[in-house]
Formats: sequence, C-alpha cells, structure tokens
Amino acid sequence: MGDAMKIRAKYAEFVGYEFFEGELFGGWRCPDKDCGMHVLEEYSFCPHCGRKLKFKEPEKYDMISISVSDKVKGMMTYQ
Ligand SMILES: [Zn+2]
Repeated sequence: MGDAMKIRAKYAEFVGYEFFEGELFGGWRCPDKDCGMHVLEEYSFCPHCGRKLKFKEPEKYDMISISVSDKVKGMMTYQ
C-alpha cells in the first residue's frame, strides 16, 4: 500500500517566481515531505526522490501582484 502511494503523482508546491540569468521562472518544490528539493516545471518526476510530479497554474501569483500594487498605492498616498 505504501508503494502505491509513492508512485501516485502529486502536485509540486509553488514557492514563488524567481529570476535566473534575466529570465523569470516558476519556483517549485517537491511535495514529498522527506524531500522538498527544488524542481523544475519540465520534470515529470523528482530527480532527488523519484516522486511523480504534476504542475498546475500557480494561483498565488495574482495575489502577490495585487498585494504589491496595494503597497505601492499606499506609499504614494503617504507622500
Ligand atoms: Zn523529491
């Protein structure tokens, strides 16, 4: 039963966007509790622990951009 759990694909954990050499990449982490290593969207499985991975559109991105623009608006109001 434990083995069946391990081969089932799990959604990678989105940890935010990162700039690398001038390009914007989604930052993802292996969802396995014992692993948690950085993975890339192209990966179909984790190269560190072998866990199958799924990726979904990160929903947090909109929330981040909204909170940032609100902060900027707030700063402009105070000036
Ligand atoms: Zn892993």
